[in-house]
This record gives sequence, C-alpha cells and structure tokens, in this order.
Amino acid sequence: MATMLQPWASDPAQSRGRRHAEAPAPTRDDFQRDRDRIVHSTAFRRLVYKTQVFLNHEGDLFRTRLTHSLEVAQLARSIARTMGLNEDLCEAISLAHDLGHTPFGHAGQDALDECLRRVEPDSGGFEHNFQSLRVVDVLEERYAAFDGLNLTFETREGILKHCSRRHAEELEQAEPGGVGHRFLARTQPSLEAQVCNLADEIAYNAHDIDDGVRSGLIEHEQLLGALPLFSRFHVEALREAPALAGKRLLYETIRRMLSVQVYDVIYTTATLIREHAPANADAVRALPPLIGFSPGMRGEVAQIKAFLRQQLYRHPRVVDTTEGAKQVIRGLFEAYRVQPRELPTGHLVADYIAGMTDRFALREYERLVGTAPIPAQ
Ligand code: MG
Repeated sequence: MATMLQPWASDPAQSRGRRHAEAPAPTRDDFQRDRDRIVHSTAFRRLVYKTQVFLNHEGDLFRTRLTHSLEVAQLARSIARTMGLNEDLCEAISLAHDLGHTPFGHAGQDALDECLRRVEPDSGGFEHNFQSLRVVDVLEERYAAFDGLNLTFETREGILKHCSRRHAEELEQAEPGGVGHRFLARTQPSLEAQVCNLADEIAYNAHDIDDGVRSGLIEHEQLLGALPLFSRFHVEALREAPALAGKRLLYETIRRMLSVQVYDVIYTTATLIREHAPANADAVRALPPLIGFSPGMRGEVAQIKAFLRQQLYRHPRVVDTTEGAKQVIRGLFEAYRVQPRELPTGHLVADYIAGMTDRFALREYERLVGTAPIPAQ
C-alpha cells in the first residue's frame, strides 16, 4: 500500500540543500542521492568489521555495525512508509547514523574520549554522533570538488542525533543556523530523524537480546522472569505453535516484540500529529518530539534496557573484552602521538583511530605497541 507523503514529511524538493551547490541528478531526488553516496562510501564498508556489542571476530552470527544499521533502516523505512513520511530520507539517515563509531563499540568510544580530553581539554572530547557528521562532511575523500559526501541538510541533521553544547557552538560558528543550531535553540529535527532515533533503539534492544541468548550470556528463562513484554509474546508464540523451542521460539518471540513496538510508535505518533497538526515539515522542528512510544510501551522498553545493561553489557565476559579494547585504543593513541610519522598526513589522531575497523586496530597495536590484550582473529 503506497501512501502519499504527508504535508509534515520532508520533501526533497524543499530541501535546505547541500553545502556545495550541485546540479540535480537526472533520475534520483536529493535524499535518494544521499542514500546512494552513503552506501558507496568507505566508512560504510568499514561498518562490517566494527563491533556492535560482541567483538567482530567473536562469532559470525552476531550483529556488526553494518547489520545493525541495515536493521535500523528496515524499521525506520517501515514506520516512515506507513506514516507517509519520507522513506528515502529515513534510509539515508539510518545507514549513516553509526559511521562515526570507533572500533570496539562503546568501550572504544569511551577510551578515545578520555584520551582526547586529556591532551586537548578544550576539544569537547570524542562523540560518535559528531564524528558521524565529520565523516560525511569532511573525512570521506571521493569527490573532486569537495571533501566529504556533500549531503543535504536534512540527512546531516538526522545523522547528528546528539551533540554537546561545545560541539554545537563549533558547528554554529562554521555554519550559522545549520545542523548545530537545534542543540542551542532546543528544537527538534525532522520527523524522519525522530523515526530513525527510535528505530535505532528498537533495533538494538531486540538484536542484543538475540545475540545475548545466542552467545550464552543470557538465558531464555532469565528473560521470561525479568521482562513481561518478552514473556507475553513467548506465551503467544507457544500458543500458536506448542512444539516450538530453542532459537525458533526465541525468534518468534522477538519478532512479535519488534512488531508491537513499531505499531505502538505508529499509533502514538498518529495521535500526537493529530493533536499538534504541523502545517509543514519545518513546523515540526518547533514542536515537542512527535515520534515516540506510548507511556506503557516506554515503561516496557525501559525494562529491556535496564535488563540488557545489567545482564549483558556488564556481564564479566563483555567487561573483560571491554577493558582490553580500551587498552588497545589508549595504546594506539599514545603511539601515534609519540610517533606522528606513523600517521598518514592530514589525519588527526582521533579521526584516524575512529575510522579503524576492530581488526585493523588490533594489527596496528601489535605493530606499534605489542601483543594485543584481546585475541586478534
Ligand atoms: Mg545505532
């Protein structure tokens, strides 16, 4: 069922445009063109070798940053299509949202942030959302006429999901009224950007449960005890197929959880949009956030997050590799600072490390520092 774009959807014909003017493409609109540029970028290909939660080489079936980004894009497009929002913009934002992630997931980011703040206290440290924007604005080297991918304002706005005041001021100075402005004015991004934020959350909550159970770090029974949303759909799946067990039962439960969250967002948002009746896409920016869960679902999602934090992200086995990963990042940072010759010209140390895949970071560590504290592949 194709839905017409609603008046509050982002319209590529009304885009605030690119930083460097370009002739329109003959067969694609500007958001489709953004999406294509992202898929062809170097940073996008690297996502396949970057950790989501489990280190990239711990198992072939766990999510990587790339498969996570594809799952986010699927959920965001699905919500956008149903609601008459711009599906292509959602896809572009989703595929690019994690381009700035360091190797080794959040552990890598935290370590890089500490290193950067130590040597440059005024730099504002390292933020992966800000870095994702740097990748598409500056770091990709592909085009003759400009650095970066020269994406539209709307895609860049969506990529910059969070931003510290320090970095927002920096952006505002370089680009007054640009993508940093909303963090100073405390306004919202487009509805498509809001959809992607929530799709990100829905995706990782679901796939971290899946990966957690597959890895053996979480037991199916623990989920039943701790998460009413999970046990509700576990019961429903068994009612429909009583013989179901193991990973099929897990997946039948998770897919129902995914669907109910998506439906909840769609219904809750439809109500909020009716209530606020934005006149156009730009009017959305001055309103409160319109894409969200109902209060009941918000509570269920908070339970999932708390459970995963406690049982998975802080699991001794995950924490062990986390500590090793931090050591690798710290070691690399010091090595490049002491021997700037080791760094390709023009790359700042943090940009260079952030761009690495897990396995390249480990190889570089072994070359420059010594035996890596976590096993290389
Ligand atoms: Mg993400």
